[in-house]
Amino acid sequence: MQREYDKYARQDGMNAVTREEFLGWKEKTKAMLIRLLGLDRMEMCNIKPIVAEKVRLDGGITREKVIIQTEEDVWMPMYILIPDECAGNSNAKCYIAMCGHQGGGKYSVAGCADIPQVKEAIDRFNYDYGLALAKQGCVAICPDCRGFGERRDMAKQGDEYFLEGTCYNLAHMAEPLGMTVAGMNTWDGFRLIDYIEERGEWDTDDIACVGFSGGGMQAMWLGALDERVKKVIISGYMYGFRDAHLYLNNNCSCNYVPHLWEHVDMGDIAAMIAPRRLIIQSGLDDHLNGPGGIDNVNKQVDIIKKAYSLFDAGDNIRHDVFPGGHMWHNEHLSEYISM
Ligand SMILES: [Zn+2]
Repeated sequence: MQREYDKYARQDGMNAVTREEFLGWKEKTKAMLIRLLGLDRMEMCNIKPIVAEKVRLDGGITREKVIIQTEEDVWMPMYILIPDECAGNSNAKCYIAMCGHQGGGKYSVAGCADIPQVKEAIDRFNYDYGLALAKQGCVAICPDCRGFGERRDMAKQGDEYFLEGTCYNLAHMAEPLGMTVAGMNTWDGFRLIDYIEERGEWDTDDIACVGFSGGGMQAMWLGALDERVKKVIISGYMYGFRDAHLYLNNNCSCNYVPHLWEHVDMGDIAAMIAPRRLIIQSGLDDHLNGPGGIDNVNKQVDIIKKAYSLFDAGDNIRHDVFPGGHMWHNEHLSEYISM
């Protein structure tokens, strides 16, 4: 499999040397990725937003629970954390804060530390980045991605599975149908931005998307495929596919997009975000970096930086490497917000 990988991998990577070449590559790559993700089968529907709950949190933040329809009969619940100064403020910045594994979906990201299991996840990964953003005066929109939180499927409903997800089961259903969990979550992200635009309460020209781990994966895909996202923060999810697929073969299959590796590596996908603002966080000892360690990360970041250099936009790409393992970092959050 390693020999096969080396023979056929990354045949459509980002090798542009001019802006025009880059834009041509990006257009072709976007069409190809939409097909590989299975997005060409998704169908529009009315979003039908429901505000199901409003709770006052400490620190002058209102937490709304909103549910939207992303496909016919597919509903996505989310918490929206609204600092008082952002209510009805068309200058307020929106951060879509995507969730990864082992956090109970929106509950960790929105900082629901009153739930003991969620508190443990927050302590372990700094998982409450949605709440951290709201405390810094941003609107933080924290959805349940497919298979997590209130969207767990039959296999793992019940309190004992509260932090777990059924993304694995979803991936096994999707793959034989030519669909992908990454594609479904990206679609839900498109529809969430539609909702933000429809609601029209905050700045819709400067929407950001952030996420840690599996949430970083979602932020990367949404930023790459939706130009309405103007800033992306990817934490704990940037490394070469070769190590991920052939060595870290116990990773959850909700990451997998069949045939993707033949066309592009992860850095190529993130390069599509150029020249929009992009921040990448890596842990020096993150096990997901694979046997190649931080070199396996840096090679992807080099691909991304090459794209930014074509736009003389080196200031719009930032790579922060932190000591330690797989976790979100808040140390530079205020700098990210002002970037
Ligand atoms: Zn998964």
